[in-house]
Amino acid sequence: MLDPAPSRPNGLVVVLGGGIAGLAAASRLSQAGLRVLVIERERQGGGQHRGCDIGPYTFDAGSIFYERSAALFDLAPGLRDLCPAVTRVQRRITPGGAIRHYPFDPRELLARRVPDLLHAMADLAWSRLTVRRNGTLDAICRQRLGRHLFESTGLAAYIARFHHEPPGSVDESFFFHRMAYVARATQPAALARMALRAAAGQPAGARIRPPLHVRPREGFAPLFARITAHLAGRGVQFRFGEELFALRREGRFFLLCTTAGTFHAEAVVSTIPLDTLHRALFATGSGLVSLDMTALFVSAARLSPQLGNVLYNFDGKGLWKRATIYSRIYPQEHESREFLTVEAMIPQDASPAPGAVFADFQRHMEGLRLADGLVLEGHAHAGNAYPLYTPGSGAVTGQILRRIERAGIVLAGRQGRFEYLPTSSSVIRRVAEELDSARLLSAVCGPTA
Ligand SMILES: Cc1cc2nc3c(=O)[nH]c(=O)nc-3n(C[C@H](O)[C@H](O)[C@H](O)COP(=O)(O)OP(=O)(O)OC[C@H]3O[C@@H](n4cnc5c(N)ncnc54)[C@H](O)[C@@H]3O)c2cc1C
Repeated sequence: MLDPAPSRPNGLVVVLGGGIAGLAAASRLSQAGLRVLVIERERQGGGQHRGCDIGPYTFDAGSIFYERSAALFDLAPGLRDLCPAVTRVQRRITPGGAIRHYPFDPRELLARRVPDLLHAMADLAWSRLTVRRNGTLDAICRQRLGRHLFESTGLAAYIARFHHEPPGSVDESFFFHRMAYVARATQPAALARMALRAAAGQPAGARIRPPLHVRPREGFAPLFARITAHLAGRGVQFRFGEELFALRREGRFFLLCTTAGTFHAEAVVSTIPLDTLHRALFATGSGLVSLDMTALFVSAARLSPQLGNVLYNFDGKGLWKRATIYSRIYPQEHESREFLTVEAMIPQDASPAPGAVFADFQRHMEGLRLADGLVLEGHAHAGNAYPLYTPGSGAVTGQILRRIERAGIVLAGRQGRFEYLPTSSSVIRRVAEELDSARLLSAVCGPTA
């Protein structure tokens, strides 16, 4: 039982949110011998790592891939063994509808007519010399690729579709966080190697990439059940299906108001979206903008074999951005239909429109003869899928983080710090950094720990 109004220190650390960041924080804090309680709005842990069963199919709303050394696997024994290893085969639809390697394919350079190739090369060289970074995604992309390649590869269309904003209205940090592969591939040495490979006629993707692990065939439930059971065995308490809506400081305690009642804690680590916490603390929004995503769960009578198992839309047409083809990751012996999740970003202030996005996807894929017999089996809404960084918003985010941290709350994770962290491993690493910082240890452990 939690003491609703303690008069003495209760040593309780509340972790808000039971996604990857919350579970990693609970793991680290309980290892340090602290009394930990996790408050999670949903009925299970995992946050954005969540799936949905429809008939014979198991779909996911977002993440499923983990590198062999993923930090997630350290949260409980035996997790890696639950997760099959597969080769991720990433393809993209180019402007015009061809299927190529993701994100670039040297064959595209060779396939160009000589004047076009010379134009692209001259534009690239000129851009490297003349385009100055101005903090926007547009400038960094043009500087690295030249306008010609930026647009003709379809990257510009992909970025615009991702944000529902032109690249000139997006902060360049997106390039280094989300587009790390492009950032590396457009270094002068990497471009030279790519050109040499293309000239030698070496096919793209010839390099063997190590397989990645994916969530268990049955879905995420066994993975997160094992993590929560392991943490519970160490004394971590979980309250699922409980949502925080208000939080304030009362002397040395924090008063938390949730859908299940009120109680006090000595320390709070927040991994819930920064704007949600801001509202709970100050009763107003933070002004930070996150983009929501619609995940369409689709089955198909036929998909082109060329599509790999992860397909990106770099075409000028279509509202969707990425499709993950589960039937190729988890083949089912007795199921003849393919099944896939199709992601589309929802514009700011717009309502989700899964029916319209599906109709658009169907038109696009069937029009290119890449799919037949598509059926919308279901859909999910992924709130706060990606932070939207507009130029200069980094300074505003910094002010908000400092204001909340001054109130004594520890902020951690992708959602907790409004930070673009592309993998669960990067989330877990950042949580450890935050918890291990000297300021944080004194905030959480206090004089009693
Ligand atoms: C589309 C997509 C694909 C991705 N693919 C991958 C991938 O393949 N591999 C990978 O490693 N990573 C992937 N990621 C990154 C992944 O999101 C992060 O690894 C991780 O999920 C972020 O963890 P988090 O705990 O910071 O946030 P979240 O997972 O969002 O967790 C926050 C938690 O807070 C809870 N919460 C919110 N409000 C409240 C409240 N008021 N009270 C209580 N609880 C609340 C939420 O229910 C949620 O469980 C992907 C992300 C997206 C968006």
